[in-house]
Amino acid sequence: MITAATRPDLVGLVPEEAEATLRTFLGERGHPSYRVAQVLTWVYDQDSLSPGEMSNLPRALRDQLAEAFQFTAPEVAKISRSVDGTTKQLWRLPDGELIESVLIPTSSRLTLCISSQAGCAMACSFCATGWAGYRRQLSPGEIVAQYRGARRWARENGYGEISNIVFMGMGEPLMNPKALFPALTILSRGYRVGARRITVSTVGVVPGILRMAEMPEQFRLAVSLHAPNHELRQQLIPLEKKYPLPELLDALRRFDHAGGKRITFEYVMIDGVTDAPELADELASVVGEFTAFVNLIPFNPIPGTEWRPSSRARLSYFVQQLQARGISAFVRESRGSDIAAACGQLRAEVTQGRKPVQISAR
Ligand code: SF4
Repeated sequence: MITAATRPDLVGLVPEEAEATLRTFLGERGHPSYRVAQVLTWVYDQDSLSPGEMSNLPRALRDQLAEAFQFTAPEVAKISRSVDGTTKQLWRLPDGELIESVLIPTSSRLTLCISSQAGCAMACSFCATGWAGYRRQLSPGEIVAQYRGARRWARENGYGEISNIVFMGMGEPLMNPKALFPALTILSRGYRVGARRITVSTVGVVPGILRMAEMPEQFRLAVSLHAPNHELRQQLIPLEKKYPLPELLDALRRFDHAGGKRITFEYVMIDGVTDAPELADELASVVGEFTAFVNLIPFNPIPGTEWRPSSRARLSYFVQQLQARGISAFVRESRGSDIAAACGQLRAEVTQGRKPVQISAR
């Protein structure tokens, strides 16, 4: 018997699998083979939410598709639009979980930041999502559906086409490899988003970085470094205890040597914590061997901490120190601060008081 749980999710199958599944399904029901391409066009080019929208298919086929397949499409729980154009979408999944994606327009690109987990188990001390705890893994379809939903919204609201995708929303993407890697394949092969335009951001999950190093596609990697030594880093990122900095750097060397795979280092600037002048030198020594960019991110205050962002003078000092050592370093200006667009903030507002789930992130 076909149930919601056993129906394949056309949004979450990698393209080759989607095509083979459709070919078998349509063939068994006597439909011509060109219908496969028609259905896939509706999925990948039109972001179709259901077979009901597939207007060039016969009614009987649309009904059969609706009965046999899922088309994951989370409901919009809230949309917040900043004065700077940054737009945050809060999605409600069928089981009530909430996840976020953020559209960030600039003069030259439209970047979509998406989530890979509901909540996050990594508990980084500077992060609203980390404080709220882990709920569950997302499926490949739930990851890709954020892109489809945001792309539809962007087209309908005059934002144009999404040019870049970053996995910097809620969750640690490399702790959800069963969904992340199929989602990368679907986005790059199905939706034809160039691998170099997709960035996976990690706090340092070494096995995942090694897997990315071996991929033929040149997906980008962003590493949330946030401290240039083990002692300080383990105070900010608990995962540092499992994968200490030397091990992380070894994995990054493998990624770097794979060629054409640029690394971005993220470094949060917290007043009196990560911004001491000597740390700038230490940071330059750590990242100097890589073909890399360093993004300095002014800390975004979250309720429950007394930490404050670094002063402008400290930010400038850091940038100058890094640039003087030949490292490309920039300050990443905060976007959408009037709509709580930093990682996990909107969800944290909506789910205040709900208990996190204590389970493995695998
Ligand atoms: S910074 Fe990333 S990995 Fe760390 S708690 Fe937040 S979402 Fe999780």
